[in-house]
Amino acid sequence: MSVRGSVFDANYPGRWVSFKCNSTYGEAIRAVCREFIVLCRRLNLFTEALVAIDGSKFKAVNNRDRNFTRAKMQRRLEQIEASLNRYFGQLDSADREEAALAQLKTARLQDKIAALKKEMQRLKELEVQLLKTPDQQISLTDPDARSMKTRGDGIVGYNVQTAVDAKHHLIVAHEVTNVGHDRDQLSNMAQQARTAMHCKDLSVVADRGYFNGEEILACDTAGITTYLSKPQTSNNQAHGLFGKRDFHYFPEENVYRCPAGERLIWRMTTQERGQNLHCYWSSACPRCAIKSQCTPSQYRRVRRWEHEAVVDAVQARLDRDPEKMRVRRQTVEHPFGTLKAWMGATHFLTRTLVRVRTEMSLHVLAYNLKRVMNILGSAPLLQAIRA
Ligand code: SF4
Repeated sequence: MSVRGSVFDANYPGRWVSFKCNSTYGEAIRAVCREFIVLCRRLNLFTEALVAIDGSKFKAVNNRDRNFTRAKMQRRLEQIEASLNRYFGQLDSADREEAALAQLKTARLQDKIAALKKEMQRLKELEVQLLKTPDQQISLTDPDARSMKTRGDGIVGYNVQTAVDAKHHLIVAHEVTNVGHDRDQLSNMAQQARTAMHCKDLSVVADRGYFNGEEILACDTAGITTYLSKPQTSNNQAHGLFGKRDFHYFPEENVYRCPAGERLIWRMTTQERGQNLHCYWSSACPRCAIKSQCTPSQYRRVRRWEHEAVVDAVQARLDRDPEKMRVRRQTVEHPFGTLKAWMGATHFLTRTLVRVRTEMSLHVLAYNLKRVMNILGSAPLLQAIRA
């Protein structure tokens, strides 16, 4: 089965071109997208070996009212329950009114009650289906679309990932997922970008939404240099206590030094969610003069992931070169802004992940083509394509 749609033609503003999005066309369109990046490489457009990775949420063909999470379902059922109780109360008071008026009012209320009971029945049937899904969520128009948080009210849609070259803002790799966060995408996007750009020493810069030790380690192992800022998630700092940043690690001695100048030595190693965590504390804590600023417990314990050196190195790199974050912002804003302006208020026109991926590849291809035409001119690009 194929789905037809239309996308904006980047070459001719105002014109729309129609397309089919099925798995056969999808693979072919993605192949053309990859080939175009190979052409850009041959034209020496990737000279800086630096990409910015970012994700943005795009709306699916699925109204918010046709998406249900457990919480949303619960809320809707409670609202119906409250409305039913109100109408039952009004039915009781209608009985006490004058006969003709009461009859009219009762008939109207009974219609409303019947409609609500029908809706409640429909929602309960949907709830049974919802509870069977792995993420406890269903979308009725596009079954793959998911409710996602955004800076505004949130949307029902897809998360589009891009790796954009910092020099010419070309999209060298892209991916569409229906997972609402970016935490697991860094190494996947970085490796796709490196393959596409064919460069050995790639640097990637991303925002704190991508900060994930395992992902940073995967990049490090693959020889990709990462620049990310660390999110501040320390509970201690939120409670006005010293954060982990106030404790300095000395790798030669394998100890931490705390704000009181005491040494926190290694005590034990534990396992949490598959990670080995080393645990350090000092015997001086119970007698410490500034303990009230450090911990309400007897000892302040500091935990260190066995690969934390890789994470520390990322922070140290960014401290030495904070400019990279400005480059990141300037690089990623351009393509997402352009793509969303082309797509208009509705964003995707096709349904299901496989077709949405194809649709996105078409947009990315159009964007890259237009960029290269702006950089080199149409005639040299056509010449390069023919060569
Ligand atoms: S409570 Fe312990 S870890 Fe905290 S500052 Fe005092 S000695 Fe150092």
